[in-house]
Amino acid sequence: MQPDHEVVIVGAGFGGLGAGIEFKRLGVDDIAILEREDDLGGTWHVNHYPGLAVDIASVTYSYSFEPNPHWSRLFAPGAELKRYANHVADKYDLKRHMEFSTTVEGAEWDEAEQLWRVHVADDGVRTCRYLVTATGFLSQPYTPDFPGIESFAGKIIHTTAWEDGHDFVGERVAIIGTGATAVQLIPEIAAQAERLTVFQRTPIWVVPKLDFPIPAAVRKIFDRVPLTQRAARLVNTSLLEALMVFGVLHYKQAKPGNRLAALIAKAHLRTQVRDARTRRALTPSYDFGCKRPTFSNSYFRTFNRPNTTLQTSSIERVEPGGIVTADGTTTEIDTLVLATGFNLWDVNFPAFAIVGRDGRDLGKWWRDNRFQAYEGITVPRFPNLLSLNSPYSYSGLSYFTTIEGQMKHIRRLFGELRSRGGSTFEVTDEANDEFLDKVTDRLQSSVFYNGSCATARSYYFNQHGEAALLRPTSTLSTLREMERFPLDAYTYR
Ligand code: NAP
Repeated sequence: MQPDHEVVIVGAGFGGLGAGIEFKRLGVDDIAILEREDDLGGTWHVNHYPGLAVDIASVTYSYSFEPNPHWSRLFAPGAELKRYANHVADKYDLKRHMEFSTTVEGAEWDEAEQLWRVHVADDGVRTCRYLVTATGFLSQPYTPDFPGIESFAGKIIHTTAWEDGHDFVGERVAIIGTGATAVQLIPEIAAQAERLTVFQRTPIWVVPKLDFPIPAAVRKIFDRVPLTQRAARLVNTSLLEALMVFGVLHYKQAKPGNRLAALIAKAHLRTQVRDARTRRALTPSYDFGCKRPTFSNSYFRTFNRPNTTLQTSSIERVEPGGIVTADGTTTEIDTLVLATGFNLWDVNFPAFAIVGRDGRDLGKWWRDNRFQAYEGITVPRFPNLLSLNSPYSYSGLSYFTTIEGQMKHIRRLFGELRSRGGSTFEVTDEANDEFLDKVTDRLQSSVFYNGSCATARSYYFNQHGEAALLRPTSTLSTLREMERFPLDAYTYR
């Protein structure tokens, strides 16, 4: 049976674009990119709250093969990332493959026909030879079930459903959450609202952001002499790599590196917040790196403003007029902003039901056994499936390392498949087990299992208490391993 498409890619964010580019390089043109949103860009399309910007410098947070000399700042604003995604889609001729407002609800492997049956909402079934899930890690917004929230009489805005026209001037506003999103948003709302109350459950480690506009002359040099931008990328990526490898992955051997990062964050807090009690409340009780830290020069300072209050008592309920906390305080508000992040481990992994060979259900199998994927991309009993957002796939601090590593993996895998004249691949149990053992072993040196992470409430940990998100190798090793994995890790038919 001839499938509808050679390749279906689910998701038109940077992961999906990367996979599309790689398949085009392999000469495949029969590609459908299905995207549930109404435009491409993934995170950078969905998120458009005020203050949105990358927190990994743009020279690094971009494809290495598609440098953008036009970033206006070292840390580009979100809108520039969206423009960059558009540029990439145009340049690599990906737009004609995209179908927006198209939600994939499930997929199952058809062993007889050796293809995937993909269920699309309101559009029946599409078949494809190869299925790529590029659905992101942070793509399922999370709204806590606060008692009484449905009775709230004012406006509720989740940061992933931002209302661009909303005017906070003169309003009493509450924001729940102090993750990387809130850190960017809080200074912006505080500058407008009459009163802002920040509801913090767990403080976040924040280090200074060495951000500045990139002068036009430098942009011109980046444009004319691309080597200069490559050099800037190398320097920045190396610094991030040092933070990741010595601060997080090799915590056991290099504790001083981790302690230094925490000291920098504490000194930053000390210089920015005048009130000692507020400083104490903003100081994490868990080790640096247990939870993703963030970068900001304006977040801490916001708590010096007379109109901004930090509330650390836990939320008991929401009433029509405001929020009641365990200390008995009622905070009256007009607008409630939920910066409560994403649900990774319950509703993601995978983002929709995937049933492979022998009826193996990926979500159930991951939950009943351990979360696992060979090189963070393929799973036994799931032939011809490339699951880009898999356990142990996220490498380094910039998502582009993960994407480019996976592109290399696709290139090598399909090169071999073709040279054998095959059309179906499947990773072996042995290769998968060996990889799981390797990452489990390497993680034993990390801050996750040696540091004090109990109070972090970190999404790096899954429901079994395993830090199953990050790949515990340096980015150089990741890229090398993706280029050199043993070809007999797969069976080919
Ligand atoms: P997040 O890090 O998961 O933060 C969610 C916040 O909501 C946390 O402070 C959490 O508190 C709080 N929260 C959740 N449920 C709660 C409850 N029931 N009661 C009180 N507080 C509750 O989500 P995020 O800030 O959206 O960031 C997610 C990730 O997106 C970041 O780690 C980063 O990787 C990425 N990001 C990147 C950028 C960038 O590069 N520009 C910007 C934003 C986000 P607890 O910690 O206590 O659970």
